Amino acid sequence: MIYLKTDEEIELMREANQLVGKTLGELAKLIVPGVSTLQLDKTAEMFIRDHGAVPAFLGHGGFPNSICTSVNDQVVHGIPSDKVILEEGDIISIDCGTTLKGFTGDSAYTFCVGMVDPEVKELLKTTEESLYLGIKQAVEGKRVGDIGYTVQSYCESKGYSVVRELVGHGIGRKMHEDPEVPNYGRRGNGPVLRSGMCICIEPMINLGRKNVFIEKDGWTVRTKDKKCSAHFEHCIAIRPEGPMILSSFKFLEELSGNKAIN
Ligand code: MG
Ligand code: MG
Repeated sequence: MIYLKTDEEIELMREANQLVGKTLGELAKLIVPGVSTLQLDKTAEMFIRDHGAVPAFLGHGGFPNSICTSVNDQVVHGIPSDKVILEEGDIISIDCGTTLKGFTGDSAYTFCVGMVDPEVKELLKTTEESLYLGIKQAVEGKRVGDIGYTVQSYCESKGYSVVRELVGHGIGRKMHEDPEVPNYGRRGNGPVLRSGMCICIEPMINLGRKNVFIEKDGWTVRTKDKKCSAHFEHCIAIRPEGPMILSSFKFLEELSGNKAIN
């Protein structure tokens, strides 16, 4: 069942998502060699609670922490740990969610730790670009498959591959609502996009092959070929005038010097 949101509800969704953006901004300042992913998690949890919200991931399906921290060949759902220390040249995907005033925000960004291999940087650039190309398709009357087709064809044209096992999703009072929003698909296929729908578009793109597996911890998704993977996610509302991005990379770009691409 797809829940269409009212203008008031979309404004509350925006508030929850802006807080996710600010949290990613706080974390951007800490992403340097030597920091543990658990330190990032603790900072995020405190920041979210200080702003009157609750970390949406904590306890979700039994997840033990407030953010997902996925390093290098980890795709998504990495569990923060004091044993995972960031090193120069790593990439780290941070996925963050908040619940504020009954509504959920959800957004992710892949950060560079110091100087990163140009080949990997190019993967991050393409993945972020594919996110914005996907968002452009999120127009009333188009279909979910138009988003997936656009993300997939762009990333594959650059030689990358699209993870199949994990997809974007509708979002609202709950973090995961209908419909599913795959990062692959066919034009003109899938549910029709309607004004008032809120969805998360979140390309998970691999430098090498698309195959992934789940680690023994039961959460962490990793590439089989051990090559890097990138993850960028925005939460958007479909409006009569076009897609409205509810989350924000503005704070992390300001604070970390990460350059905006759009
Ligand atoms: Mg997310
Ligand atoms: Mg999501």
